[in-house]
Amino acid sequence: INAATAMLGMLALVHITLMETAEANSLQRDIERGMARREFFLVFQPQVQADGKVVGAEALLRWRHPQLGMVSPGDFIPVAEESGQILPLGSWVLQEACQTLQRWARTPAMDGVSLSVNVSAKQFLQPDFVGQIASAMQQHGVVAARLKLELTESMLVHDMSDIIAKMHSLHTLGVGCSLDDFGTGFSSLSYLKKLPLDQIKIDQAFVRDVLTDPSDAAIARAVLQLGENLGLAVIAEGVETEGQRDFLLANHCRLFQGYLYSRPLAAIDFEMYVADNSAMKL
Ligand code: C2E
Ligand code: MG
Ligand code: MG
Ligand code: MG
Repeated sequence: INAATAMLGMLALVHITLMETAEANSLQRDIERGMARREFFLVFQPQVQADGKVVGAEALLRWRHPQLGMVSPGDFIPVAEESGQILPLGSWVLQEACQTLQRWARTPAMDGVSLSVNVSAKQFLQPDFVGQIASAMQQHGVVAARLKLELTESMLVHDMSDIIAKMHSLHTLGVGCSLDDFGTGFSSLSYLKKLPLDQIKIDQAFVRDVLTDPSDAAIARAVLQLGENLGLAVIAEGVETEGQRDFLLANHCRLFQGYLYSRPLAAIDFEMYVADNSAMKL
């Protein structure tokens, strides 16, 4: 009986694994089709200063699936990373971002607003990644210092000298790099001084309970101090309440992103948001 139970357990496990594989396979086919049929689009979440002035946006990928409706990047990005589809998808995001920056450059109200693009490890590790960035910028006449890249710690298990060299080349192009989800990966603080970073993002996991969980408060404070001491800008993500904002502000945080300010917006709504916020300052 024990052997039979074990056998059944194993079969159940095999079954679940097969189901997951089948799901990933069909999602993979759907991503392929979705790229061809232009089912993907970008939304833009404001990044603001303490006074409410919008200094930039994060470009976030969205997928309107014909049958499933909106599919979260949390579900399809890992599949696309696994299958390698993140490479064509990522170049599409980059092209779209540069096109957006080109349009903003012609709109006085959008002057000085930067755009941050999320980049997967696989994308960044391509030998010609910097070349791809340079040609996308050139193609759309993008001014340096308007385009920013968000990288994650998961990338840092790879060849550090290659990563550092690429970040230096990007820096020379005028493209800044931000370390996303800071504190959630395999953090070794020693890499922070080796990487030519411009900014770190306090992960929303630490912001969420910053008022109620003393450890999260200590981590958020430590990241802000680290940024100050290393000369890096720090932006807090996932800021949802005034209480969270006030805590961060009291600890010298100068840049904020989260639902308190705005959800990610369609391009046209983001442009209106920027116009409204600069009008209020007059
Ligand atoms: P991320 O880069 O850390 O982006 C922040 C996520 O937090 C976004 O989720 C955003 O919508 C959400 N968020 C913003 N403010 C708040 C808030 O106040 N509260 C809460 N609870 N959430 C907030 P989203 O858009 O679902 O994206 C999830 C992740 O998918 C991103 O995390 C990023 O890692 C990845 N991703 C999105 N777009 C791209 C892309 O174009 N390329 C790549 N490689 N990854 C992407
Ligand atoms: Mg990000
Ligand atoms: Mg993040
Ligand atoms: Mg995240």
